Amino acid sequence: MRERFDLVSFEKAQQLIGSGKNSRPALTITFDDGYAENCDEAIPFLLEEKIPFTYFVTTEHIMQQTVFPHDAELGNPLPVNSVESIIALADAGVEIGAHTRTHLDLGKATDPDLIYDEVIVATRELEAAIGHRIRFFAFPYGQYCNLNKDVFHLFKHHGFEGVCSAYGGWNDIGNDPFHIQRLHGDPNFTRMKNWLEFDPRIAKVEPYDWSESTIDWSTWQPNRDSTDHPQSNPLAQRNSPVESIDPTSEYFANE
Ligand SMILES: [Zn+2]
Repeated sequence: MRERFDLVSFEKAQQLIGSGKNSRPALTITFDDGYAENCDEAIPFLLEEKIPFTYFVTTEHIMQQTVFPHDAELGNPLPVNSVESIIALADAGVEIGAHTRTHLDLGKATDPDLIYDEVIVATRELEAAIGHRIRFFAFPYGQYCNLNKDVFHLFKHHGFEGVCSAYGGWNDIGNDPFHIQRLHGDPNFTRMKNWLEFDPRIAKVEPYDWSESTIDWSTWQPNRDSTDHPQSNPLAQRNSPVESIDPTSEYFANE
């Protein structure tokens, strides 16, 4: 990989996309969900080689140690990372990213309170648990049908720095650096190499258009009496530790 690509951080990839020029193809590595087995070989190798990567985790599965429904359905309940291991990764300089509270398919979500809880409240709780700021988000499943324009706008509104999909697309110079289109790291290495060289199907992929929002997040207020997610709404819990996060701080400030 190193012979053909600059292996860069998520942030650096965004800078290259936005810079208008790039002399060499670049690759940034991400992981989704937070599987314990990533710590067996992949992560030690990347840390050893000093290859940057971003690690997107689903808040509830990490904090409550629950297996993913899509794995349980397949009879393959893979263990998830502990909060401690996520803290250790973050302390080692790994960029930790958000991936909703429950691995919700946001493409089907229309209730603003549910969306706000899954993406903003859950991300703040994850930040509070690991003691590190979160800047990036990955859509669960990540196909076109799993994306949601309102979620793009919600993250932008709250000062996050980037979101990513997974429907399979390259990011060309001049593309929108806020939205990183990802390719699946196929276990078939030959196929993956082909994707990274030239695949006309990928070249034809159009970036998801999130320009129009149906919800105006600048005037929307969370429903403080919401009973759908009483445990997860920090505003509803007086003694919640996440209350210590100042919602007017620079990071969460409206833009
Ligand atoms: Zn996922």
